[in-house]
Amino acid sequence: MPSYDFDALSEYQDIIEEAMNGRTDGHRCPKCSKGVLIITVDEDVKMRIECPECRQYFEGRFA
Ligand SMILES: [Zn+2]
Repeated sequence: MPSYDFDALSEYQDIIEEAMNGRTDGHRCPKCSKGVLIITVDEDVKMRIECPECRQYFEGRFA
């Protein structure tokens, strides 16, 4: 089993790509479009994207 679901991944795809290029600020939540996402990257391989409004989150690992 993957540790994330692929529907979520496609929704977050653009945000993930920008975050990987160092732009982690100011992304709006694709779920509720109200919250500004909190993005954390650990050691360049683990990413967590969380919305403070609706509490939806995405977690992924990139190797
Ligand atoms: Zn949200």
